Amino acid sequence: MPKYIVLLGPPGAGKGTQATIIAKKLNLAHISSGNIFRENIDNQTELGKRAQGYMDQGQLVPDDLTIAMVRDRLAQPDCQAGAVLDGFPRTAAQAQALERNLAEQGNEIQCVPYINVPDETLIERLSGRWTCTQAGHVYHLKFSPPQKAGFCDKDGSPLYQRSDDHQETVENRIRVYGEQTAPLIDYYRQAGILFEIDGICEIEQVTQSILECIEKTNK
Ligand code: AMP
Repeated sequence: MPKYIVLLGPPGAGKGTQATIIAKKLNLAHISSGNIFRENIDNQTELGKRAQGYMDQGQLVPDDLTIAMVRDRLAQPDCQAGAVLDGFPRTAAQAQALERNLAEQGNEIQCVPYINVPDETLIERLSGRWTCTQAGHVYHLKFSPPQKAGFCDKDGSPLYQRSDDHQETVENRIRVYGEQTAPLIDYYRQAGILFEIDGICEIEQVTQSILECIEKTNK
């Protein structure tokens, strides 16, 4: 049975970091809706142009665009064995669309690890976050600074700050998360597939907890 794992949690909880590790370990596709939007913006596609204004303000991109984009991504051959979804779904309509989409292939979500991190920590984490231009390696000015300021330790490429990681936008993203995405916690809890994880721990420990949820729900 293909594994579809949804990582839920506020912006800055570590979903991207964890999704990268878990997808690699389990040989699954990593679907980050935020990364797909950013690639479309960099390539100046029609989708990128439509998404950019929402992203810059920390708002959600409308459901119809987002759902169609993820639907296409899930239809790619590398998703046949399953995928780790990072940043999708973010609304009730997206959650329902995902369920319908998977059900069409006789599939379902295996589990939803919910990475819980308090708001104060999120603001501190996001506003200090810098990313490498080449491969997306992530640093933090205070918690994990690069050896040479402004450059990636792994590939030497310059680091940049995501335009939506500036303080005002960060606060907006956290507010939007609370209003539109946090209700999914209860939705998945009621479905019996939610597993709450303490996202304040070390990266390795969070990974371990997520792997345990996946192990427990293996079919
Ligand atoms: P992320 O990289 O997941 O933090 O996403 C960055 C931004 O992309 C978000 O603040 C939204 O503007 C947009 N975005 C990413 N995923 C979604 C989604 N599932 N629904 C709507 N907008 C999204």
